[in-house]
Amino acid sequence: MDDHENARKSFGSDRARLVYGRRDDGTLAHISEVPRGLSCGCRCPACGGRLIARLKDVHVVPHFAHNDGETCGGGPETVLHQLAKEAFRINPKMQLPERLGLDKGKVVMKPGQEVETELLRLEYSDPKKIIPDLYVRALSYDLFVEVAVTHASDDTKIQRLREHGTMAVEIDLSKLPRDATREQIADAVLRTAPRRWLYHPGIEAAKAKSRADEEKWQAAQAKRFADYQAKHNRRVDELARAYGQAVRQLAGMKTVVPRHAELQAIGLTEHVGIKVAGYGCFTVPPADWQAVILAEVFHDNCLGHEIPKAVSIAKHLEKRNLIRPLFRRVSREVADDTTVAERRFAPAWRAIDSYLQHLLGKDVLGHQGYGVMLEKSLANKWTARTLALKQGTAAMHAVVQKVDWILAELPDKERGDMTGESWLDSVHTESGTTYRAAISV
Ligand SMILES: [Zn+2]
Repeated sequence: MDDHENARKSFGSDRARLVYGRRDDGTLAHISEVPRGLSCGCRCPACGGRLIARLKDVHVVPHFAHNDGETCGGGPETVLHQLAKEAFRINPKMQLPERLGLDKGKVVMKPGQEVETELLRLEYSDPKKIIPDLYVRALSYDLFVEVAVTHASDDTKIQRLREHGTMAVEIDLSKLPRDATREQIADAVLRTAPRRWLYHPGIEAAKAKSRADEEKWQAAQAKRFADYQAKHNRRVDELARAYGQAVRQLAGMKTVVPRHAELQAIGLTEHVGIKVAGYGCFTVPPADWQAVILAEVFHDNCLGHEIPKAVSIAKHLEKRNLIRPLFRRVSREVADDTTVAERRFAPAWRAIDSYLQHLLGKDVLGHQGYGVMLEKSLANKWTARTLALKQGTAAMHAVVQKVDWILAELPDKERGDMTGESWLDSVHTESGTTYRAAISV
């Protein structure tokens, strides 16, 4: 049980009865210090009305009552405020609140500290009409102390304090019981009650530094964004211009379509050379890279287990140096804006995708699982042809080996400079064809 509980039991109540009256000399008298009734000689500290001391009897706890019967209600708060101010008369130590501040140019929270105080009289005339509750000297600075019982300081008051330039602390006694004892009030106002800085130049400096830091950061962000934007625009311009040049260059380029004989044999030549959007991203005309897709990706299965899709095929074409370096890594944002600047442009992977869609539409490709593959009859035809060619080559190789072996047995004079290979291309006199042609049939 603390002192406050005891005080409540003896002299007060939770309904905040008035337990202090004002003597004629201005000092406050506790109910325990006065005689009963009107002879207490006290007035209400709030309204000044005469008080009657009702001392402890059977039914009531001791308290002061207004003599005219009308309780003004302001007494306990006025008393609390006055006792709080009185606590400073003996130049006590008081606890200052923590605050923002600067330490080596950095914004930090400085912890609160207990300081010696010296009560000062308010003897100056204040043009800004600031009348603080208390004016003390602490840490060799002048300090206003506001004791808030019912209302905390509002923005107008804080602004005036800022303009005045004197440090000010507010102590919040709103949660303190209205009938607290002198000792409890002193302890609360000097140490334990919540407190805050209303104005401190150090806090202002720290806040200004924070704002400056924030503005600097914002400016840096804005610059980063502008730089990014400028870089992006340069890249888009560069791509759009390069794309136009690439298309013109490809138009005049003569090349030999890779694996042309195979494509012709399978009947696929009409399906290469499709000018899909984005064909300018490649180093060769459409027929060339499209032949590579059909032959290497779909027939040779060069991607292995990787599903043939636009992106995986693009990687293969990149390795084969079929995609111009400038168009290799194009982000979606850059690609979209480049398409706006140069309508014929599309990124390489999208050109490949358009080509795959074309082949699907022509039944050259069919869907399989998550990917696409050569249409079955085409695939079979192609595989069979490749196999036959391989066997033909193997047979030819065997013949050449045998001829070489026979030639080795002949005397040098008879053999001359003939080899197995040159024999293959010599003409068989009876049929009029080369041995190579005869064996290939
Ligand atoms: Zn009163």
